[in-house]
Amino acid sequence: MLTKMIRSTTSKYKFGAHVSTKGGVSNSVTNAYNIGCNSFALFLKSPRKWESPQYTTEEILKFKANCEEFRYDPLLDILPHGQYFINLANPDKEKTEKSFNSLLDDLTRCEQLGIGLYNLHPGSSIDGDHQRQLKQLAEYLNKAIKKTKFVKILLENMSGKGNLVGSDLKDLETVISFIEDKSRIGVCVDTCHTFSAGYDLRNKESFEKFWKDFDDIVGLKYLGAIHLNDSKTPYAANKDLHEKLGEGFIGLETFRLISHDERFTKLPIILETPQKDDTGYGHEINLLEWLETVDRSEDSELKAKIQELQQLGEKSRNEQIKKFEEGEKKKANLQAKRAAKNAKTSSKKRAPAGNDIMSRLSRKRAKKEEDN
Ligand SMILES: [Zn+2]
Ligand SMILES: [Zn+2]
Repeated sequence: MLTKMIRSTTSKYKFGAHVSTKGGVSNSVTNAYNIGCNSFALFLKSPRKWESPQYTTEEILKFKANCEEFRYDPLLDILPHGQYFINLANPDKEKTEKSFNSLLDDLTRCEQLGIGLYNLHPGSSIDGDHQRQLKQLAEYLNKAIKKTKFVKILLENMSGKGNLVGSDLKDLETVISFIEDKSRIGVCVDTCHTFSAGYDLRNKESFEKFWKDFDDIVGLKYLGAIHLNDSKTPYAANKDLHEKLGEGFIGLETFRLISHDERFTKLPIILETPQKDDTGYGHEINLLEWLETVDRSEDSELKAKIQELQQLGEKSRNEQIKKFEEGEKKKANLQAKRAAKNAKTSSKKRAPAGNDIMSRLSRKRAKKEEDN
């Protein structure tokens, strides 16, 4: 059956997806419209290159005209994704300056297009003092805010741990506390990252607990957007691997809860699930808009859908459980070895921790964008 991908006018939510900009940034608007997005995300420039050509005046006008024609409010409905390698928490000053220039270029592009929101991975403190690097990150954000006019920066929560900023909600609170103009800062919660970082979301109780924690630690007033992804890896695996809705370890019920939560009605809710092309997102938007109509978790149609999607993802989940268990074993062995080594040479400096999750993700995303 061919499902029509028309923008819902009855949904209370702004479900959308990260769409391709192939052929020019203005095409993102029509791409979003064609799959029924009520909000959308895009890359402002190649996520893999430090520098990209500036927009032409013609392209900027075309983008704005498209927004008007297809009824997207660029101030509220569009959430561009920053480059993955921007890291303002890096203790290496030279690298951080390069990141800052790229961020400023991104923010300037937003304002040229009239876009009011911008999503940023908060980076990693690498081998630096974590708290001090959080302050540095905030200082750079303050500088970027001063140099621009209106775009609001949303820091995305992360799935890793340790030096990766934003895996712990407290990091986000700390950074926000240092921001001078609080009207220009917010948070984007990614459901996959949340779950993978060790905040459960799988049933009503844990779902409510997470949002209460979020409100207590960060403050719901800072919530500016949601990235909607299932997780390919098990709970608290600290891996940033997105899965299609309902096929991963989070499961469809969480997404039904989101589509019934009044707190999220005004936010861009953006899909970043692994899809061959934008059409896959169109089907997921339909699915979300259907979930919005399902009032009970005991609904028989819902149960059938949950089963169908869980079956589709079963093979992958089993593989990931195996990998997870192997990984846990390796980690335990490594820790034992390290402990033994540390006992011998306790004065020796610890090697800087890598940034693997982000660099791998960056390469993967960049490739996807080029393939599109
Ligand atoms: Zn995300
Ligand atoms: Zn992610």
